[in-house]
Amino acid sequence: MGDFLFAPANPVTVPIARGGLFAVRRVYCVGRNYVEHVVEMGNDTRDPPFFFTKPADAVVVGGAGIPYPPRTEDFHHEIELVVAIGNDGSDIAVGDALDHVYGYAAGLDMTRRDLQAAAKKAGRPWDMAKGFDFSAPVGTIEPASSIGHPASGAITLAVNGSERQRGDLADQIWSVPEAIAYLSQFVALKAGDLIMTGTPAGVGAVKRGDVLEGSIAGIGTVRTTIL
Ligand code: MN
Repeated sequence: MGDFLFAPANPVTVPIARGGLFAVRRVYCVGRNYVEHVVEMGNDTRDPPFFFTKPADAVVVGGAGIPYPPRTEDFHHEIELVVAIGNDGSDIAVGDALDHVYGYAAGLDMTRRDLQAAAKKAGRPWDMAKGFDFSAPVGTIEPASSIGHPASGAITLAVNGSERQRGDLADQIWSVPEAIAYLSQFVALKAGDLIMTGTPAGVGAVKRGDVLEGSIAGIGTVRTTIL
């Protein structure tokens, strides 16, 4: 293995429906992208959305359980539409953005809400609130060649069978093409990037033993258990 000091980590992969694996490069997340969630968090809906990241190896697939993370007493679920980028691009025009999408999945932007609140208050980065180990459960990727590019449809999350979050993709403040175009002004997007596109209202805390089941109409599901 050449001059590697130690064996490089295996690529993080997400299963693709009907076969194959999507190797994850980076995970971008859109903040504040559904009006009712912006309001429930006490923010101004006129603010433009913004981006943060999670490490690729925060992704968890196959319905595997995730450990209740350390250093929090307020661990929250956020169900999100995940966009899987298949074609590289920078400064992508809104009208061209969907040409860069390989497919879609349902995902969870798991959040240490108390750490996020403290970071906001101190004007500090959100990394430890958002980008920690096991913080990004993702379901199977459905290729756009099979399902198209859904711009509307119910997005829901249930905890132990009880619905907690419900929204509609049509209620996103910034659409998928707009988010891709804007993000690509800041960074070059490349095949393997995932974009978590924000969560509808109803975020809340989970505890050990809870079973989370997210669903997006026309796209798929994501499931995990808090260990
Ligand atoms: Mn989120």
